[in-house]
Amino acid sequence: MYAHERMRQSRIPFSQRLFWSVFFIFLGFTACVFVFQYQREVEFTREKLNSVLSSYNYQLHYRVQKDPNLNAVVEEFVREIPEHGLRVTIIDPSGKVLFDNTKSDIRDNHNNRSEVLKARQKMNAYAIRSSGTDGQEYFYSANNIEGYIYRCAIPYGPYIKDTLKVNREFVYFMALMLLIFFIVLSRYTFSIGQTIAKLKYFSQNIPKNPEKEIELNFPNDELGDIAQHIIKLYRRQQKAKNELALEREKLIKHFQYAKEGFAMFTEDGVEILANIQLIQFANVLSNNAIHTAEEVLDIPELEPIRTFLEEKTQTPRVKALRQTATINKSGKTFLVECLLFQNNSYEISISDITRQEEEYQMKRQLTQNIAHELKTPVSSIQGYLETLLYNHLSDEKRGFFIERCYSQCQRLTDLLKDISLLNRLEGAADMFELTDVNLTQLLNEIEKECAQQMEAKNITSETHLPENAMIHGNFSLLYSIFRNLYDNAIAYAGEGIRIIVNCYKEDSKYYYFSFSDNGAGIPEEHINRIFERFYRVDKGRSRKAGGTGLGLSIVKNSVLFHRGQISAKSTPGQGVTFLFTLKKKI
Ligand code: ADP
Repeated sequence: MYAHERMRQSRIPFSQRLFWSVFFIFLGFTACVFVFQYQREVEFTREKLNSVLSSYNYQLHYRVQKDPNLNAVVEEFVREIPEHGLRVTIIDPSGKVLFDNTKSDIRDNHNNRSEVLKARQKMNAYAIRSSGTDGQEYFYSANNIEGYIYRCAIPYGPYIKDTLKVNREFVYFMALMLLIFFIVLSRYTFSIGQTIAKLKYFSQNIPKNPEKEIELNFPNDELGDIAQHIIKLYRRQQKAKNELALEREKLIKHFQYAKEGFAMFTEDGVEILANIQLIQFANVLSNNAIHTAEEVLDIPELEPIRTFLEEKTQTPRVKALRQTATINKSGKTFLVECLLFQNNSYEISISDITRQEEEYQMKRQLTQNIAHELKTPVSSIQGYLETLLYNHLSDEKRGFFIERCYSQCQRLTDLLKDISLLNRLEGAADMFELTDVNLTQLLNEIEKECAQQMEAKNITSETHLPENAMIHGNFSLLYSIFRNLYDNAIAYAGEGIRIIVNCYKEDSKYYYFSFSDNGAGIPEEHINRIFERFYRVDKGRSRKAGGTGLGLSIVKNSVLFHRGQISAKSTPGQGVTFLFTLKKKI
């Protein structure tokens, strides 16, 4: 056990210290009052005796005035008064004893006796002392009457001592007061002590077990109120602390599971917090192994962040500053962000923005493609219209150009229809109405619609579907799937081919289809890209065939809308097969 702990255990409790200090102060005060009062009582009783003896002195003087026979006068006087053994002395102004009833012929000068000395100054004085004449102890009372000292004395024996005894009542009174004070003080200090002990118990036990609800009843006084207030404040602070800890915990968890790499640093660049992703991303970015978040700034590509920190930390600022750097490494794109706070502490985050970057590039590509696709028919229309406007043409030629214009407008309409359909599929899929669609009927209709074109190219088709194959889905999207596949096969597979639509499998949830032709097929390098928007194997051929380059994209998105999957396989020269599933009820 440590010395200070031993000292803490052995020390006297505060309430006891308070009690004993107040009690001793009061005791000291009482002792002073007692001594003072005792002294006064002693004085008072002596004064009383003195005044009796003083009256005797005057009576004696009075009698001596009348009768100069001292012996007889004193003898009679002594006999009359109740005090036994009264000694009467008369001293002349020179200190010579004129008369003493206990001893005649006293020669020594009595002016040096203390009561005589004082009486010469104050007319009356008393003294308790041993007699210089007979050695006995007396209570003397001397009066200076016209220069003569009349002195009556009584032996200071047990009787007189008893009469001069101090009145005991005041002693009892003081003892009683002391006792009352003791009780009241102990009651109050006990109450203070209890409050302190409870507070101490609370402060020692709560930190060990903060969840425990300790029931503490404090006395109904100001100290109790203060204690209760302290506990309330403590609990409130504890609650806030717990909530803060929880929030911190949540934040740390969030950082650990975040997709971004993240680290916080002090103004001296010391790491406060960092997640695993940061270290992982930093290692992708760096050629050397990185073990701590503090090493991240050593990556050469992070030069702009380093200079930013070096420069900006020199000057004070009122708001946080931000610096970013985009780094391409190992086929990925990373965005490094640094946030510098007012107190020079900072945060660094690294995020993998490869997908966003790709999406951004794709969107750019898409816009370019749309613009390009629109440009061709629009400039064709413009050209035809200019020819029509500025040339005198025969009716036949006019009709030809107007027809061309119309067909380009048709192309534009188809293109816009396809774009808008794809946009709706991506952005507002829930707007498509769902109904029960009979696939067998739907395919029969498409076959009929395409019959003429197929006949023209000597194309045959077979469908193998369960009778009344039903799907709860969107009619026009299901139509688009099969129609686009038919149109493509007719347009690109070549002449004299055979199209086979087969529902090769069905389970409780899905229909499994294959759509194949035995035509030209698609070269290996293109097969994985044919579902991309505006992707064409042979651009010229596609345009000539009236294709927008969006057909298979619409097919794929429509299949996805029906919770299915699609893929394509092809052996050039032997045809293409599209394999896809459609959910019976979406
Ligand atoms: P398009 O508007 O050009 O038809 P699609 O997305 O429908 O656009 O098709 C993309 C490309 O895939 C076509 O340009 C075509 O070259 C190729 N293709 C599609 N279906 C077939 C098929 N059955 N046989 C051969 N090539 C095909």
